[in-house]
Amino acid sequence: MRGLVTKSTGSWYLVEGEDGKRVECRIKGKFRTKGIKTTNPVAVGDWVVFELEPDQTSGIITALEPRRNYIIRKSVNLSKQTQIIGANLDQAILVVTLASPPTSLGFIDRFLVTAEAYDIPAILVFNKLDLFSEEGLDILAEYTQLYEKIGYPCYAVSAQQGTNVDLVKDLLQGKTTLVSGHSGVGKSTLINMLEPSAALKTGEISDWSDKGKHTTTFAEMINLSFGGKLIDTPGIRELGVVDIEKGELSHFFPEMRLRMNQCRFHNCRHINEPGCVIIQAVEDGEIEASRYESYLSIYHNQDTRS
Ligand code: GDP
Repeated sequence: MRGLVTKSTGSWYLVEGEDGKRVECRIKGKFRTKGIKTTNPVAVGDWVVFELEPDQTSGIITALEPRRNYIIRKSVNLSKQTQIIGANLDQAILVVTLASPPTSLGFIDRFLVTAEAYDIPAILVFNKLDLFSEEGLDILAEYTQLYEKIGYPCYAVSAQQGTNVDLVKDLLQGKTTLVSGHSGVGKSTLINMLEPSAALKTGEISDWSDKGKHTTTFAEMINLSFGGKLIDTPGIRELGVVDIEKGELSHFFPEMRLRMNQCRFHNCRHINEPGCVIIQAVEDGEIEASRYESYLSIYHNQDTRS
């Protein structure tokens, strides 16, 4: 039988068969993702072939269909392994907020770079609109302009009050969407508003109390009654900017990608080289300083390779 993986822990998998029933499965045989060592060889969003065990209540995954794309993060344990968060994604939403706890631009940019690296269209949803002060609304307008200019649609919503949630529904319809966000931004409240049957627990700001502990959490797929699928990523603080070559990093900043062939040196790193059009564009205000700072910060990060 063919099925869609809706949860993946690395030791067992929930697979939704074409009859809509979800079956707990294990894996038989070796499944490898080229080039990376993963804690879960099969991920949420993967299409697999599985067989039911004689008891008819559990199953065995025997084959994995090729993926259109996937997104990973570093494993929560300290080994060099990575976890595949989701596969076959149409888009990824990052839920952020300017109210408590405010999301930093650096965090947003790291998410966007990850999405670019895996070729997944990214969208920003600013939540808790009801809490924004005058000043907050000005910042929202500024950020919206910043990100829409470089190709990332932005939405401002109040998950709690339902404001603009319909716009997000339109966005999700018929698609497979990964939803990510720092704990406390209201991701669960938003998902419950979109799909009340999901009944996710809200109000648990676990990120802060759990800091440092190796808590293991797993993404899960939610079927949307209005059409489409959501992959919720509870407790996943950050997707991984894993294994990006330093020399390639600017490809994942659309506003840099546009300009980089115009630098004097073909292998310009856009750090201090003469004749660098990126540095010039930052000085001219054509590239946002915060974006360039994020570039430098990721460039100097140990996760990027020389
Ligand atoms: P998650 O950790 O991102 O899943 O966040 P939750 O959905 O659990 O929400 C964290 C807290 O923010 C809860 O106390 C929610 O009631 C609150 N919250 C969520 N959305 C909104 C919103 O749009 N406006 C306001 N004022 N509070 C919200």
